[in-house]
Amino acid sequence: MCGVFGVYNNKSAAELTFLGLHALQHRGQESAGIAVSDGYDINLKLGQGIVTSVVKENDLRDLRGNISIGHVRYSTAGGSNPKNIQPFFAHFYGGSFAIAHNGNLVNADRLRRELEEDGAIFRSTSDTEVFVHLIARSRQPAPPHINLHKNDEDFLPHVFEVMKRVKGAYSLVILREKQLIAVRDPYGFRPLVLGKNRTGSYFVASETCALDIIDAEYLRDINPGEVLVIDDAGIRSYYPFEFPEEPKKCIFEFVYFARPDSKIFKEWVYQIRKEFGRRLAKEYPIEADCVIPVLDSGLLAAMGYSEVSGIPFEIGLIRNHYVGRSFIQPAQEIRDLSVRLKLNPVRQVIEGKRVIVVDDSLVRGTTSKKIVSMLRRAGAKEIHMLISSPPVISPCFYGIDTPTREELLAANLSVEEIRKFIGADSLNYLSLEGMLEAADSSKGFCTACFTHNYPVLDELFSVQGV
Ligand code: SF4
Repeated sequence: MCGVFGVYNNKSAAELTFLGLHALQHRGQESAGIAVSDGYDINLKLGQGIVTSVVKENDLRDLRGNISIGHVRYSTAGGSNPKNIQPFFAHFYGGSFAIAHNGNLVNADRLRRELEEDGAIFRSTSDTEVFVHLIARSRQPAPPHINLHKNDEDFLPHVFEVMKRVKGAYSLVILREKQLIAVRDPYGFRPLVLGKNRTGSYFVASETCALDIIDAEYLRDINPGEVLVIDDAGIRSYYPFEFPEEPKKCIFEFVYFARPDSKIFKEWVYQIRKEFGRRLAKEYPIEADCVIPVLDSGLLAAMGYSEVSGIPFEIGLIRNHYVGRSFIQPAQEIRDLSVRLKLNPVRQVIEGKRVIVVDDSLVRGTTSKKIVSMLRRAGAKEIHMLISSPPVISPCFYGIDTPTREELLAANLSVEEIRKFIGADSLNYLSLEGMLEAADSSKGFCTACFTHNYPVLDELFSVQGV
């Protein structure tokens, strides 16, 4: 869970990066950072919190330059140590660079141990720093099938070698003094798009909603396994892997993570998320008086369910948008009320009704349990819980913050046991086939958290018992 953004050729690069990160804020609220190059030096502003609290007007005045990258972080590897705030910056014998990463490496621990045994000193606990050390130490030439532009001869062979050593999910933006580089792993787990504005500036972003906010046009996706370089000689594309992998794009981006106004993996999130709801209606026709979403993530699936079933769509739970992650956990005695900080039922909609509640996923089950009991107290006659994705049975190792297998309800209980645990009258999940058909399975998706079928793991890593 992270968002990345990059700008090439704009005198307001820092300001545009600030806006781009603001649009990507849903991908991480723990820390934010911007790195800007004026063609000679790279300057950074990093801090904990959302981008508007980290980067102030005077910071933007100081971050002068035409090329920039930025990052918003939600820690998945390495914890919330301030030293893990990205972009990371490094000097090495070949110059300087800053790097920002969305994703998670599955062999980072092993590579880190090898690097440390070889004398490397790490300053963070993030897997992203592995890229920094590997880039600095790389000595391999570019693969023979690659014809390098002269501007790329010094740095890109390092990137190519690192891509061959790391395993897992990485959508990267790299800032050099005079270049912006975008990299996507060969499976294409995380999204990454390229855009351009009317004045000829180029942009790279995790999602298209970050292009919209700065009035840039979506050009195309950065392809799985692609390295894209933008500099004063133009745009160049390289594919260091001679034999491409079958794409494994994260389907959870469509279920929950990406913003519904974004286009990712060449598809509109809005359409697919609504289609999940339509499929739910076909798989589980239920007699009820209203369909209500768990806002915001269940909204579109609930609309899709209502559209197909003809059951009226209502807003039966109101979300309080002012509850941030910084909210201090309340004392134990009122902790059970914490879901009320976020959601409150609309009694007029609920009372005496048979209610279908649509949510995007059910992970630990604690929120669903609280929602069901809240709706009962508001007078619901029946509560039917529908989940617009299959049961989550395995953790994600590719950059989404899911808990361990022990904490995943569906890894340990049957659907009927989960229904009893949350207290609903019925509980149903969208089938794997339904989800894949809605998203067009021919496009190649990772479904490991629903199937335990991991596309890539470190060869020394065992998934037994995870
Ligand atoms: S395991 Fe699940 S959340 Fe992780 S990349 Fe695969 S589909 Fe996405």
